[in-house]
Amino acid sequence: MGSDILTRKVIETRESEWLAPYAMKSAESMGRVHPEKEHAYRSAYQRDKERVIHSTSFRRLEYKTQVFVNHEGDYYRTRLTHTLEVAQISRAIARVLRLNEDLVEAIALAHDLGHTPFGHSGEDTLSTLMKEHGGFDHNSQGLRVVDELEERYPEFPGLNLTAEVRRGIIRHSTPFDMERMGKAHVPGPWLLEIQVVDIADEIAYNNHDLDDGLKSALLVEDDLSGVSLWGEAYAAVGGKKEIPNPEIRRIQIIRKLIDLQVSDLLQNTAAVIDSLRLKKAGDIPGGGGKIVCFSEGMEERRVFLKKLLVDRLYKHYRVVRMSGKASRFLKSLFEIYCADPDQLPPGAKEAMRVRGKYRAICDYIAGMTDRYALDQYKRLFEPYERV
Ligand code: MG
Repeated sequence: MGSDILTRKVIETRESEWLAPYAMKSAESMGRVHPEKEHAYRSAYQRDKERVIHSTSFRRLEYKTQVFVNHEGDYYRTRLTHTLEVAQISRAIARVLRLNEDLVEAIALAHDLGHTPFGHSGEDTLSTLMKEHGGFDHNSQGLRVVDELEERYPEFPGLNLTAEVRRGIIRHSTPFDMERMGKAHVPGPWLLEIQVVDIADEIAYNNHDLDDGLKSALLVEDDLSGVSLWGEAYAAVGGKKEIPNPEIRRIQIIRKLIDLQVSDLLQNTAAVIDSLRLKKAGDIPGGGGKIVCFSEGMEERRVFLKKLLVDRLYKHYRVVRMSGKASRFLKSLFEIYCADPDQLPPGAKEAMRVRGKYRAICDYIAGMTDRYALDQYKRLFEPYERV
């Protein structure tokens, strides 16, 4: 074997030479809760990324709702395709800023592992039901998934990820998530890599929800005529005149929208980094300052786009019906399991002995995919269904 292969040692040396001074280097990780020997060929963050991809909760993302319930159609985003888009946008941003791409990818792939079935409606429902029993939010749950609930190793529970990825999961905070922040905490700075994933998540869901909203016809192009960002992207691709085919036009406008936002984010963040003269990873003024951010002008324009999504898509009566239905039957599942835990399957019942009734039932429901939850509901409530 030649001596020029890419071993972990070589990767670590390259990181120190090639990444920006303020990027997080895998060799400087605060490490894992359960000490493990480093791998000969893979860096700490590459291993984390691969552990996430091989986990059970990652596979389940395929059948969890983003906005549209899974059985509404095969062409809408699911939590899995959303996660892949977040990973892709995060890596693109990290590469330009010379941040650690493996770290952002690991955090991005793990960022939604704590999500319940049926999107934010499922999360709100569990959060209400668990109010008196320790609460529920998807970030804290994400950390529980990687720290406790995944069972893959004989020596320890969970995936034993590095402190930086765990910190990224818990401090992942979009406007939706902020209000739901629970008590879970992982010490360490709010690294630029973590900030990149936060903002890439927002870019991804705003734009793909817009895309899915138009595709489903719950939104139409005319709804967007007053949104300046949309207007700019529309004009840049040449509008109806240049692209008469509405499907291709929509795709090209969304493509342009993402590009406009990411370009602004990169230019503005580079300027902020310059002005602060950051020298090392974690060198964040005040410990929690936002460094990866849009220019003020772009931030203002994005507010209009986000407001339109809330008013016209998330509050569309058909989306509200989907959420209402999901909330009702998740509540029914929770209540029947609490009233009669003997109806729980053996694994969940065993967990009750360790974590207590409410937490075990909450974990069981949070881990369900949309279709598994629907299936359980039928089995429990429909007289002619097999149990
Ligand atoms: Mg997300």
